[in-house]
Amino acid sequence: MVALPSSRKPAEEVLNTMRRIRTHDAKWHEGRTWSLVFHASDEVTGLLQEAYGLFFSENGLNPMAFPSLKKFEAEVVSMTADLLGGDGQTVGNMTSGGTESILMAVKTARDWARSKKPAVTTPELILPSTAHPAFDKAAHYFCLKTVRVPVGSDYRADVPAMEAAVSPQTILMVGSAPSYPQGVVDPIREIAQVAKEKDVLCHVDACVGGFMLPFVRQLGYQLPDFDFRVPGVTSISVDLHKYAYAAKGASVILYKDSDLRRHQFFVQSDWSGGIYASPSMTGTRPGGALAAAWAIMNFLGRQGYLEIADTVMKTVVRLRQGIEDIKGVKVLGDPPMSILAIGSDSLNIYEIGDALTKSGWHLDRQQNPPSLHLTVTHAHAAVAEQFLADLAQAVAQARRFTLAKLINSIQVGAVKAAARILPEETMSDLTGRASSVMGLTGGQLPGRTAAMYGMMASLPNRGDLDEIVLDLLDQLTRVDETAPADQSGQRYE
Ligand SMILES: *Cc1c(COP(=O)(O)O)cnc(C)c1O
Repeated sequence: MVALPSSRKPAEEVLNTMRRIRTHDAKWHEGRTWSLVFHASDEVTGLLQEAYGLFFSENGLNPMAFPSLKKFEAEVVSMTADLLGGDGQTVGNMTSGGTESILMAVKTARDWARSKKPAVTTPELILPSTAHPAFDKAAHYFCLKTVRVPVGSDYRADVPAMEAAVSPQTILMVGSAPSYPQGVVDPIREIAQVAKEKDVLCHVDACVGGFMLPFVRQLGYQLPDFDFRVPGVTSISVDLHKYAYAAKGASVILYKDSDLRRHQFFVQSDWSGGIYASPSMTGTRPGGALAAAWAIMNFLGRQGYLEIADTVMKTVVRLRQGIEDIKGVKVLGDPPMSILAIGSDSLNIYEIGDALTKSGWHLDRQQNPPSLHLTVTHAHAAVAEQFLADLAQAVAQARRFTLAKLINSIQVGAVKAAARILPEETMSDLTGRASSVMGLTGGQLPGRTAAMYGMMASLPNRGDLDEIVLDLLDQLTRVDETAPADQSGQRYE
């Protein structure tokens, strides 16, 4: 256990310690990470920090006390709605992220059904198999049932199969624009059409695409319709802390009108502390996140986003060409934006991933089918050639060792199956920590390197493995007793 230090420390000492601790973090600034961080430029980051700092102490819980925050949120929501084909009826709120936006959309659908569809007793969501786990999380939290429908061979939602899955208990159908795993845009028009015919709601998860697709289209790339211009679409989630390049903790949930959005709100008017009303999950909301989002949208404007999207898409074109030129690997499906999955028909893609990890790249592993995930951002323009060179080398290496590794990979058991999916360090960490669950003996435990997001997205949902992951989640918030301690007894990694 770590106790609160008994005395004060100089601020500079604390900060220096923190700078030292972060040296092993993923190198996002050099464009080495292909997920988790969206970096436009140092100028943009500087502006975000300044805007965030200006409103660092303000609390978005009560916008009446801070008319500035009220204005920022209203305008951010309005600008986002305008970008996504909204009209005078469109309403929305800022949330802490895509997950909260999706939680709200699902909760709203549940309460909408409670008031409009009394025959529904166990509400069901119809999801393409590629839809984000935030929908399962929402169903888990709000006691709903998810119906996952396999996608087609192009990784896009199979609309006839989704239609066939609709039951009298269905309340919401979901499509992604684009999906996270392969970056393809689901046939939103067709999904929304079915939803309309069946009198259920239709949510478009544009968390990652909402601030990219409109500009990609304006640049002349071909895209299917995906926003409020499509009849039947009733809500859209859009993250600002992704391709809007806002500070983390900023997303928008939009609804086609305020009647629907009313089901999102929560009021407790009986509390001794006064009348408490809250639009979304959180109570206190950081004013900085609202302010920084407003700042970046006003700073970049349409023109700024268009220029960044142009750079990103040129990088994507170069990467796709380069990947196509390397024999043995390919881009899965035909992603119209800047999210790509690299797969292989002949080689073990996870070995290629491990080789790339060794040359300093951070890529998430995916499954069904096995692939490596790339979120291309502005930061990757400068490193695309280096990445392609390292990829070619990793592929050559994987080809050389295929036979030996094939023999090695004839393994059984959940842990060993996981080993093919997870990066090496994560795996030894997991096996070490999982010893109690699996009856294994773990080796020395290395530092905690698990990329939670990638891990949660890539783990299969099987009993033993779930237990291991739950165990890991539990361990992540415990102090690492194996890390060396400094003079004051404080432990650092
Ligand atoms: C990132 C993402 C989410 C979840 O957003 P968070 O901000 O991580 O909570 C949901 N859907 C898609 C398609 C995403 O890419």
